[in-house]
Amino acid sequence: MIIKFKKNYPQDSADRLFTFLKDRGFTTKDVSSDNVKIFGVIGDTLQIDKSEIYAFDCVEEAIRIMVPYKKGSREFQAFDTVIDLGDGIKIGGDSHTMMAGPCSVENEDQMMKIGAYLKAQNIQILRGGAFKPRTSPYSFQGLKEDGLKLLRKTADRFGLKVISEIPSVEVLPLFETYVDIIQVGARNMQNFYLLKALGKSKKPVFLKRGLSATLEEWLMSAEYILDGGNDSVILCERGVRAFETYTRNTLDITAALAAKELSHLPVFIDPSHAAGRVSLIDPLAQAALAIRAHGQIIEIHPEPEKALSDGAQSLTFDQFTALMSRLKTSADALRIPLQ
Ligand code: PEP
Ligand code: MN
Repeated sequence: MIIKFKKNYPQDSADRLFTFLKDRGFTTKDVSSDNVKIFGVIGDTLQIDKSEIYAFDCVEEAIRIMVPYKKGSREFQAFDTVIDLGDGIKIGGDSHTMMAGPCSVENEDQMMKIGAYLKAQNIQILRGGAFKPRTSPYSFQGLKEDGLKLLRKTADRFGLKVISEIPSVEVLPLFETYVDIIQVGARNMQNFYLLKALGKSKKPVFLKRGLSATLEEWLMSAEYILDGGNDSVILCERGVRAFETYTRNTLDITAALAAKELSHLPVFIDPSHAAGRVSLIDPLAQAALAIRAHGQIIEIHPEPEKALSDGAQSLTFDQFTALMSRLKTSADALRIPLQ
Protein backbone atom coordinates (compact mmCIF):
# COMPACT_ATOMS: atom_id res chain seq x y z
CA MET A 1 0.00 0.00 0.00
CA ILE A 2 1.18 3.48 -0.88
CA ILE A 3 0.29 6.43 1.37
CA LYS A 4 0.49 10.05 0.31
CA PHE A 5 0.31 12.88 2.87
CA LYS A 6 -1.50 16.17 2.52
CA LYS A 7 0.59 19.21 1.61
CA ASN A 8 0.87 20.77 5.08
CA TYR A 9 0.08 17.68 7.06
CA PRO A 10 -0.05 17.84 10.85
CA GLN A 11 3.08 16.18 12.22
CA ASP A 12 1.34 14.77 15.32
CA SER A 13 -1.12 12.89 13.10
CA ALA A 14 1.76 11.56 10.98
CA ASP A 15 3.57 10.39 14.14
CA ARG A 16 0.44 8.58 15.32
CA LEU A 17 0.06 6.89 11.91
CA PHE A 18 3.65 5.63 11.94
CA THR A 19 3.17 4.28 15.48
CA PHE A 20 -0.09 2.62 14.39
CA LEU A 21 1.63 0.90 11.44
CA LYS A 22 4.61 -0.17 13.53
CA ASP A 23 2.36 -1.60 16.24
CA ARG A 24 0.53 -3.62 13.59
CA GLY A 25 3.82 -5.11 12.42
CA PHE A 26 4.34 -3.12 9.21
CA THR A 27 7.52 -1.44 8.04
CA THR A 28 7.55 1.66 5.85
CA LYS A 29 9.76 2.86 3.05
CA ASP A 30 9.98 6.55 2.27
CA VAL A 31 9.72 7.38 -1.44
CA SER A 32 8.95 11.10 -1.07
CA SER A 33 9.69 13.51 -3.86
CA ASP A 34 10.43 17.25 -3.51
CA ASN A 35 7.29 18.52 -1.86
CA VAL A 36 5.26 15.39 -1.49
CA LYS A 37 5.56 12.96 1.35
CA ILE A 38 4.92 9.46 0.00
CA PHE A 39 5.80 6.10 1.47
CA GLY A 40 5.14 2.45 0.92
CA VAL A 41 3.74 0.17 3.63
CA ILE A 42 5.39 -3.23 3.63
CA GLY A 43 3.75 -6.34 5.08
CA ASP A 44 0.43 -8.11 4.69
CA THR A 45 -1.65 -5.00 4.08
CA LEU A 46 -4.78 -7.11 3.51
CA GLN A 47 -5.02 -6.92 7.30
CA ILE A 48 -5.74 -3.21 7.16
CA ASP A 49 -8.76 -1.48 5.81
CA LYS A 50 -8.09 1.72 3.87
CA SER A 51 -10.63 3.53 6.05
CA GLU A 52 -8.33 2.93 9.03
CA ILE A 53 -5.60 4.87 7.21
CA TYR A 54 -7.93 7.67 6.14
CA ALA A 55 -8.87 8.14 9.80
CA PHE A 56 -5.50 9.90 10.19
CA ASP A 57 -5.81 13.54 9.31
CA CYS A 58 -2.38 13.69 7.61
CA VAL A 59 -3.42 11.26 4.85
CA GLU A 60 -4.46 12.51 1.44
CA GLU A 61 -4.53 9.19 -0.37
CA ALA A 62 -3.98 5.51 0.35
CA ILE A 63 -3.58 3.25 -2.67
CA ARG A 64 -3.62 -0.50 -2.56
CA ILE A 65 -1.19 -2.18 -4.93
CA MET A 66 -2.14 -5.76 -4.11
CA VAL A 67 -5.71 -6.88 -4.82
CA PRO A 68 -7.67 -7.28 -1.57
CA TYR A 69 -8.63 -10.85 -2.38
CA LYS A 70 -5.75 -13.22 -2.11
CA LYS A 71 -6.57 -16.91 -2.30
CA GLY A 72 -8.86 -16.46 -5.31
CA SER A 73 -6.37 -14.41 -7.29
CA ARG A 74 -4.16 -15.46 -10.19
CA GLU A 75 -1.20 -14.11 -8.22
CA PHE A 76 -1.88 -16.76 -5.58
CA GLN A 77 -2.47 -19.53 -8.13
CA ALA A 78 -1.67 -19.03 -11.79
CA PHE A 79 -3.32 -22.19 -13.15
CA ASP A 80 -7.08 -22.75 -13.41
CA THR A 81 -8.79 -24.53 -10.54
CA VAL A 82 -10.43 -27.75 -11.64
CA ILE A 83 -13.14 -29.14 -9.36
CA ASP A 84 -13.62 -32.89 -9.28
CA LEU A 85 -17.24 -33.86 -8.65
CA GLY A 86 -16.46 -37.58 -8.79
CA ASP A 87 -17.62 -40.13 -11.38
CA GLY A 88 -15.27 -38.56 -13.92
CA ILE A 89 -17.03 -35.18 -13.87
CA LYS A 90 -14.70 -32.23 -13.61
CA ILE A 91 -15.47 -28.51 -13.75
CA GLY A 92 -12.97 -25.89 -14.92
CA GLY A 93 -9.83 -25.88 -17.01
CA ASP A 94 -10.42 -26.11 -20.75
CA SER A 95 -13.84 -27.72 -20.76
CA HIS A 96 -17.29 -26.14 -20.85
CA THR A 97 -19.83 -27.77 -18.53
CA MET A 98 -23.59 -27.50 -18.99
CA MET A 99 -25.98 -27.49 -16.04
CA ALA A 100 -29.71 -27.48 -16.73
CA GLY A 101 -33.02 -28.01 -15.01
CA PRO A 102 -36.09 -26.19 -13.80
CA CYS A 103 -36.07 -22.96 -11.85
CA SER A 104 -38.08 -24.73 -9.14
CA VAL A 105 -38.55 -28.36 -8.26
CA GLU A 106 -42.33 -28.77 -8.49
CA ASN A 107 -43.30 -32.44 -8.43
CA GLU A 108 -42.00 -35.93 -9.15
CA ASP A 109 -43.46 -36.16 -12.63
CA GLN A 110 -41.77 -32.91 -13.70
CA MET A 111 -38.44 -33.98 -12.22
CA MET A 112 -38.46 -37.47 -13.74
CA LYS A 113 -39.24 -36.07 -17.18
CA ILE A 114 -36.37 -33.61 -16.83
CA GLY A 115 -33.98 -36.22 -15.46
CA ALA A 116 -34.69 -38.62 -18.34
CA TYR A 117 -34.34 -35.81 -20.87
CA LEU A 118 -31.01 -34.58 -19.47
CA LYS A 119 -29.64 -38.10 -19.42
CA ALA A 120 -30.58 -38.51 -23.08
CA GLN A 121 -28.84 -35.21 -23.85
CA ASN A 122 -25.67 -36.28 -21.99
CA ILE A 123 -26.03 -33.40 -19.54
CA GLN A 124 -24.44 -34.41 -16.27
CA ILE A 125 -25.59 -31.75 -13.83
CA LEU A 126 -29.21 -31.13 -12.85
CA ARG A 127 -30.22 -27.77 -11.40
CA GLY A 128 -33.38 -27.14 -9.42
CA GLY A 129 -34.49 -24.74 -6.71
CA ALA A 130 -36.03 -26.28 -3.60
CA PHE A 131 -35.86 -23.15 -1.45
CA LYS A 132 -36.92 -20.28 -3.68
CA PRO A 133 -35.88 -16.71 -2.89
CA ARG A 134 -38.80 -14.83 -4.44
CA THR A 135 -39.31 -11.10 -4.65
CA SER A 136 -42.82 -11.54 -3.31
CA PRO A 137 -43.59 -13.54 -0.14
CA TYR A 138 -46.85 -14.56 -1.86
CA SER A 139 -45.06 -16.32 -4.74
CA PHE A 140 -44.24 -20.05 -4.67
CA GLN A 141 -41.50 -20.53 -2.09
CA GLY A 142 -40.36 -24.01 -3.12
CA LEU A 143 -40.86 -27.55 -1.80
CA LYS A 144 -37.94 -27.12 0.59
CA GLU A 145 -36.63 -30.43 2.03
CA ASP A 146 -39.06 -32.46 -0.09
CA GLY A 147 -37.67 -30.64 -3.13
CA LEU A 148 -34.11 -31.56 -2.21
CA LYS A 149 -35.17 -35.19 -1.78
CA LEU A 150 -36.82 -35.17 -5.20
CA LEU A 151 -33.70 -33.69 -6.76
CA ARG A 152 -31.56 -36.40 -5.20
CA LYS A 153 -33.96 -39.14 -6.23
CA THR A 154 -34.01 -37.89 -9.81
CA ALA A 155 -30.25 -37.51 -9.96
CA ASP A 156 -29.67 -40.98 -8.54
CA ARG A 157 -32.11 -42.55 -10.96
CA PHE A 158 -30.42 -41.01 -13.99
CA GLY A 159 -26.82 -40.83 -12.77
CA LEU A 160 -26.67 -37.04 -12.55
CA LYS A 161 -25.11 -34.55 -10.13
CA VAL A 162 -27.28 -31.97 -8.40
CA ILE A 163 -26.96 -28.25 -7.78
CA SER A 164 -29.46 -26.31 -5.65
CA GLU A 165 -29.62 -22.95 -3.93
CA ILE A 166 -29.16 -22.66 -0.17
CA PRO A 167 -31.23 -19.93 1.50
CA SER A 168 -29.52 -19.74 4.89
CA VAL A 169 -27.08 -21.36 7.31
CA GLU A 170 -29.67 -23.37 9.30
CA VAL A 171 -30.41 -25.71 6.40
CA LEU A 172 -26.77 -26.42 5.52
CA PRO A 173 -27.01 -30.00 6.94
CA LEU A 174 -29.81 -30.72 4.43
CA PHE A 175 -27.65 -29.49 1.58
CA GLU A 176 -24.72 -31.57 2.83
CA THR A 177 -27.02 -34.58 2.66
CA TYR A 178 -28.77 -34.10 -0.66
CA VAL A 179 -26.78 -31.99 -3.12
CA ASP A 180 -23.44 -32.16 -4.92
CA ILE A 181 -22.95 -28.42 -5.48
CA ILE A 182 -24.34 -25.73 -3.20
CA GLN A 183 -25.57 -22.62 -5.02
CA VAL A 184 -25.44 -19.23 -3.33
CA GLY A 185 -28.01 -16.99 -4.97
CA ALA A 186 -27.39 -13.45 -6.14
CA ARG A 187 -29.34 -12.07 -3.19
CA ASN A 188 -27.16 -13.95 -0.72
CA MET A 189 -23.79 -13.13 -2.26
CA GLN A 190 -22.88 -10.94 0.68
CA ASN A 191 -24.42 -13.08 3.41
CA PHE A 192 -21.03 -13.36 5.05
CA TYR A 193 -22.12 -15.74 7.83
CA LEU A 194 -23.46 -18.13 5.21
CA LEU A 195 -20.23 -17.81 3.21
CA LYS A 196 -18.16 -18.54 6.31
CA ALA A 197 -20.23 -21.64 7.03
CA LEU A 198 -19.74 -22.79 3.43
CA GLY A 199 -16.02 -22.29 3.88
CA LYS A 200 -16.18 -25.19 6.33
CA SER A 201 -18.20 -27.40 3.96
CA LYS A 202 -16.68 -30.08 1.77
CA LYS A 203 -19.16 -29.38 -1.03
CA PRO A 204 -18.27 -27.17 -4.01
CA VAL A 205 -19.98 -23.78 -3.86
CA PHE A 206 -21.51 -22.03 -6.89
CA LEU A 207 -21.37 -18.33 -6.05
CA LYS A 208 -23.67 -16.14 -8.10
CA ARG A 209 -22.75 -12.50 -8.53
CA GLY A 210 -24.99 -10.09 -6.63
CA LEU A 211 -27.45 -7.93 -8.53
CA SER A 212 -25.21 -4.89 -8.31
CA ALA A 213 -21.99 -6.29 -6.94
CA THR A 214 -18.67 -5.07 -8.28
CA LEU A 215 -16.14 -7.57 -9.48
CA GLU A 216 -14.12 -6.91 -6.36
CA GLU A 217 -17.09 -7.49 -4.04
CA TRP A 218 -17.86 -10.75 -5.83
CA LEU A 219 -14.28 -11.97 -5.53
CA MET A 220 -14.16 -10.90 -1.88
CA SER A 221 -17.24 -13.05 -1.23
CA ALA A 222 -15.45 -15.99 -2.85
CA GLU A 223 -12.54 -15.18 -0.57
CA TYR A 224 -14.69 -15.82 2.52
CA ILE A 225 -15.33 -19.38 1.32
CA LEU A 226 -11.73 -20.00 0.25
CA ASP A 227 -10.35 -18.55 3.46
CA GLY A 228 -12.56 -20.91 5.46
CA GLY A 229 -10.73 -23.83 3.85
CA ASN A 230 -13.08 -24.75 0.99
CA ASP A 231 -11.16 -24.27 -2.24
CA SER A 232 -13.95 -25.49 -4.54
CA VAL A 233 -15.68 -22.29 -5.56
CA ILE A 234 -17.32 -21.63 -8.93
CA LEU A 235 -18.18 -18.04 -9.88
CA CYS A 236 -21.37 -17.38 -11.85
CA GLU A 237 -22.28 -14.19 -13.70
CA ARG A 238 -26.09 -14.02 -13.93
CA GLY A 239 -26.66 -10.49 -15.15
CA VAL A 240 -26.56 -7.26 -13.22
CA ARG A 241 -29.16 -4.59 -12.62
CA ALA A 242 -28.79 -1.81 -15.17
CA PHE A 243 -31.15 0.85 -16.49
CA GLU A 244 -32.66 -1.43 -19.13
CA THR A 245 -36.11 -2.83 -18.42
CA TYR A 246 -36.75 -4.87 -21.60
CA THR A 247 -34.42 -7.57 -20.32
CA ARG A 248 -34.54 -8.92 -16.79
CA ASN A 249 -30.88 -8.10 -16.21
CA THR A 250 -27.84 -7.22 -18.29
CA LEU A 251 -25.38 -10.05 -18.83
CA ASP A 252 -22.04 -8.57 -17.87
CA ILE A 253 -19.89 -10.64 -20.17
CA THR A 254 -17.00 -8.22 -19.59
CA ALA A 255 -17.04 -8.96 -15.87
CA ALA A 256 -17.07 -12.69 -16.55
CA LEU A 257 -14.00 -12.30 -18.75
CA ALA A 258 -12.32 -10.09 -16.17
CA ALA A 259 -13.10 -12.66 -13.46
CA LYS A 260 -11.31 -15.26 -15.57
CA GLU A 261 -8.34 -12.93 -15.88
CA LEU A 262 -8.17 -12.04 -12.18
CA SER A 263 -9.10 -15.37 -10.65
CA HIS A 264 -8.18 -19.01 -11.13
CA LEU A 265 -11.69 -20.13 -10.13
CA PRO A 266 -14.07 -21.56 -12.76
CA VAL A 267 -16.40 -18.90 -14.18
CA PHE A 268 -19.92 -19.80 -15.32
CA ILE A 269 -22.63 -17.84 -17.11
CA ASP A 270 -26.37 -17.94 -16.39
CA PRO A 271 -28.03 -16.75 -19.61
CA SER A 272 -31.52 -17.52 -18.25
CA HIS A 273 -31.60 -15.05 -15.36
CA ALA A 274 -29.71 -12.47 -17.40
CA ALA A 275 -32.16 -12.51 -20.30
CA GLY A 276 -35.43 -13.27 -18.55
CA ARG A 277 -36.89 -14.25 -21.92
CA VAL A 278 -36.44 -17.29 -24.09
CA SER A 279 -35.65 -15.50 -27.36
CA LEU A 280 -32.32 -14.15 -26.07
CA ILE A 281 -30.95 -17.22 -24.38
CA ASP A 282 -29.43 -19.03 -27.35
CA PRO A 283 -27.12 -16.16 -28.44
CA LEU A 284 -26.11 -15.46 -24.84
CA ALA A 285 -25.23 -19.13 -24.45
CA GLN A 286 -23.04 -18.78 -27.56
CA ALA A 287 -21.39 -15.74 -25.98
CA ALA A 288 -20.59 -17.79 -22.87
CA LEU A 289 -18.81 -20.30 -25.07
CA ALA A 290 -17.07 -17.59 -27.09
CA ILE A 291 -15.44 -16.11 -23.98
CA ARG A 292 -14.44 -19.62 -22.94
CA ALA A 293 -16.41 -19.50 -19.73
CA HIS A 294 -16.07 -22.79 -17.90
CA GLY A 295 -19.74 -23.56 -18.29
CA GLN A 296 -23.28 -22.35 -18.03
CA ILE A 297 -26.51 -23.00 -16.19
CA ILE A 298 -29.80 -22.91 -18.08
CA GLU A 299 -33.42 -23.22 -16.99
CA ILE A 300 -35.61 -25.73 -18.81
CA HIS A 301 -39.13 -26.99 -18.17
CA PRO A 302 -41.30 -29.67 -19.83
CA GLU A 303 -44.15 -27.13 -19.94
CA PRO A 304 -42.85 -23.59 -19.34
CA GLU A 305 -46.37 -22.16 -19.39
CA LYS A 306 -47.15 -24.18 -16.28
CA ALA A 307 -43.88 -23.44 -14.46
CA LEU A 308 -44.31 -22.20 -10.89
CA SER A 309 -41.39 -19.80 -11.35
CA ASP A 310 -39.46 -18.25 -14.24
CA GLY A 311 -41.58 -19.80 -17.02
CA ALA A 312 -40.84 -16.88 -19.35
CA GLN A 313 -37.15 -17.74 -19.43
CA SER A 314 -37.43 -21.53 -19.34
CA LEU A 315 -36.63 -23.42 -22.53
CA THR A 316 -38.75 -26.33 -23.68
CA PHE A 317 -36.92 -29.61 -24.30
CA ASP A 318 -37.03 -28.94 -28.04
CA GLN A 319 -35.56 -25.48 -27.61
CA PHE A 320 -32.80 -26.80 -25.39
CA THR A 321 -32.02 -29.61 -27.83
CA ALA A 322 -31.65 -27.04 -30.62
CA LEU A 323 -29.46 -24.85 -28.41
CA MET A 324 -27.21 -27.80 -27.56
CA SER A 325 -26.83 -28.71 -31.18
CA ARG A 326 -25.75 -25.17 -32.11
CA LEU A 327 -23.44 -24.97 -29.10
CA LYS A 328 -21.86 -28.25 -30.13
CA THR A 329 -21.09 -26.87 -33.59
CA SER A 330 -19.44 -23.81 -32.04
CA ALA A 331 -17.60 -25.83 -29.40
CA ASP A 332 -16.18 -28.13 -32.09
CA ALA A 333 -15.01 -25.13 -34.13
CA LEU A 334 -13.42 -23.57 -31.06
CA ARG A 335 -12.03 -26.94 -29.94
CA ILE A 336 -13.71 -26.66 -26.56
CA PRO A 337 -14.77 -29.93 -24.94
CA LEU A 338 -18.49 -29.49 -24.24
CA GLN A 339 -19.87 -31.69 -21.47
C1 PEP B 1 -32.04 -19.25 -9.62
O1 PEP B 1 -30.99 -19.77 -10.01
O2 PEP B 1 -33.16 -19.77 -9.79
C2 PEP B 1 -31.97 -17.92 -9.00
C3 PEP B 1 -32.90 -17.50 -8.16
O3 PEP B 1 -30.91 -17.21 -9.41
P1 PEP B 1 -30.32 -15.79 -8.92
O4 PEP B 1 -29.88 -15.98 -7.51
O5 PEP B 1 -29.20 -15.57 -9.87
O6 PEP B 1 -31.43 -14.78 -9.07
MN1 MN C 1 -35.00 -19.02 -11.75
